[in-house]
Amino acid sequence: MTHSHNSGSLWNELGDGLPVERELAGRLIRARDEELPSLLGAAAAVKEHFRPRVITYSRKVFLPLTNLCRDYCGYCIFRRDPADAGAHTMTPDEVLAAAKAGEKLGCCEALFSLGDKPERAFPEMRATLRKLGYRSTLHYLEAMCELVLRETALLPHANPGLMSEEWTERLGAVCPSLGLMLETTSRALLHSGAAHDRAPDKVPALRLRTIEDAGRHQIPFTTGLLIGIGETPEDRVETLLAIRELHRRFGHIQEVIVQNFRVKPAIPMASWPEPSRGDMLRTVAVARLVLGDMNIQAPPNLSSPDYDVLLTAGINDWGGVSPLTPDFINPEAPWPHLAELERRTQAAGQRLEHRLCVYPEFVEQVAARPGLMPDRLRAAADDRGLARAA
Ligand code: SF4
Repeated sequence: MTHSHNSGSLWNELGDGLPVERELAGRLIRARDEELPSLLGAAAAVKEHFRPRVITYSRKVFLPLTNLCRDYCGYCIFRRDPADAGAHTMTPDEVLAAAKAGEKLGCCEALFSLGDKPERAFPEMRATLRKLGYRSTLHYLEAMCELVLRETALLPHANPGLMSEEWTERLGAVCPSLGLMLETTSRALLHSGAAHDRAPDKVPALRLRTIEDAGRHQIPFTTGLLIGIGETPEDRVETLLAIRELHRRFGHIQEVIVQNFRVKPAIPMASWPEPSRGDMLRTVAVARLVLGDMNIQAPPNLSSPDYDVLLTAGINDWGGVSPLTPDFINPEAPWPHLAELERRTQAAGQRLEHRLCVYPEFVEQVAARPGLMPDRLRAAADDRGLARAA
């Protein structure tokens, strides 16, 4: 790695100490404004060493299988109770129609996002599942992943919330990769009035256990941080270190997302301040310096309009970008048009490449398994493990 475009005491402190550890990371995440360019330069240099001149993204169709959820996270605009306007569980026909429309537009990923275990809270969801012929939301999700695999060329990636070890294994057989945002390791957010006080599935130890279970089964896994929901900068460092530790043990974390809280009307945290641009840049840069050679993503639509500044902090991926479906999690923030994303990426001296839901370095391992999902993966991947050109 070259240290040429950096100077000053911060860079000297970084010196040979990469990846950075707790104490230094805690100092860097509180870097003063005048230190920020040097911090960003260091992070960008580490990214260039890891993935020179390339930024990836996944072209996806978003499938909100159900927006019923038993949790009440203070920042969530996606979730509904059964009686709420807009409450909906997709039918198999709706899943297939959306997946096929995405396929026509060149999508390779069917991203299933859904509320956590709604049938445990709502008899209405139990009735819906009974009518559909499934015992639980996860059974239904598994069947819909199989449907997408059978009927389209898309690869499913599922984010169903907490899973047992058995379910990570079952869903890992129909999805090349799975996801669960760790969000934070801070238990303070479970306290009364905090972001997770009515969210039993956001207990950090439980989320760490799901990620660990996925590691035990060698399932490529996406996780990440949600910043600005009441955690401290030191909590962010702890969250990054916990993710790094799991990756060191199992080698399965394919991607770490740094997501910034965006305020929306009609959420419990509607008057909560958003994290500043500086918070976001510091967190992404520290993530790069702590995680080193791991994939780091930040969603462009949550940093519009000048999202390209994230490239200066060391990300190497824009995440899932949809040519078709709105972002149901942040509906007020449309994804940038792909052509514009490519233009800005190139303007920053980077090449935009289309990856699959599973990152290239994990493709061979998943494609070597038996079954329909690995067959579909082999058909979708080119010889570098990226999306085969249409
Ligand atoms: S963020 Fe996820 S777990 Fe929390 S309320 Fe929304 S859908 Fe449910």
